[in-house]
Amino acid sequence: MTTSATDSNPQTGAAAGGHYVHRLVRPSGRVLCRFSCGAASAVATKLAIEKYGTVEINYSDTGAEHEDNARFIADCERWFRQKITITRSEKYADIWQVFEAKRFIVSHQGAPCTAEMKRKPGDKVWEIGDTEIFGYTIEERHRVEKWKRDNFERIIECPLIEKNLTKQDCFGILDRLGIELPAMYRLGFRNNNCIGCVKARDNLDYWKRVRKHFPAIFERMAKLERNIGTTINRITKDGERSPIFLDEIEEGDPKGADPNIQCGLFCMAEADAMLDGPNYDQAGTIEVHIRSAAQCIDKAADIEKTNEERTK
Ligand code: SF4
Repeated sequence: MTTSATDSNPQTGAAAGGHYVHRLVRPSGRVLCRFSCGAASAVATKLAIEKYGTVEINYSDTGAEHEDNARFIADCERWFRQKITITRSEKYADIWQVFEAKRFIVSHQGAPCTAEMKRKPGDKVWEIGDTEIFGYTIEERHRVEKWKRDNFERIIECPLIEKNLTKQDCFGILDRLGIELPAMYRLGFRNNNCIGCVKARDNLDYWKRVRKHFPAIFERMAKLERNIGTTINRITKDGERSPIFLDEIEEGDPKGADPNIQCGLFCMAEADAMLDGPNYDQAGTIEVHIRSAAQCIDKAADIEKTNEERTK
């Protein structure tokens, strides 16, 4: 019988590969908070600071989020009493450049902007042995468990889940502190993602909300769809699913609630799927895997050396 990495138990490292890597991965003492400019990640970062003291706080700028994020970052830095490091893609200025270069926006497997604007810059600041802090809430517990199993080489902590905190709790905490929520929430968006997040697929109300508050961005995305010849949304009519371009969406305000759209390192499996797709930047991904493997080997050598010295 063969086992794959994803079969492994993250705590015991039961599968062969998982076992080897997991045994080697010891916390380095460095704590890396994955700050997304969302309310939940802000509260998770604060909890990590309370637990560990000094931490690294990293934010991946996609070049397409609301400008009010700069104000929220400054407010959070005052609250944390620590600076937030902003990382960006070395190749693309924003998500638009990614779509245009790859001639691809989104599919059921995910979106290339996640891989290029979040996954790759995020991996650049990660070292094996880092304890990574994520702002996932109790509602997301099951997805996080699966993600942890699939990424057994990473040490992941989700303080909000440990404390049974919901997203609404995080809004309440910021409200009580007098920290104004990022503008996207105040406009009715459920997540503080890029304006016009392409993962909001098959959700016309989301796009109506974008059209209402950010007409120029809506129009830009509508033109991009036509230019590439693809659609983000599909509608079901008489039992049949068919694509609908943004410029075909009926007039009117959104009526339904915003979807819960995940984007970030959490979407690693998906980001990998994107990288494996037709627009795969193979060199970039292989480089990340090689770096992880090399770090494991270095760690193994260090551990062996320490063991030898101890037995002398
Ligand atoms: S928030 Fe949406 S548009 Fe922005 S990088 Fe993530 S998936 Fe892409």
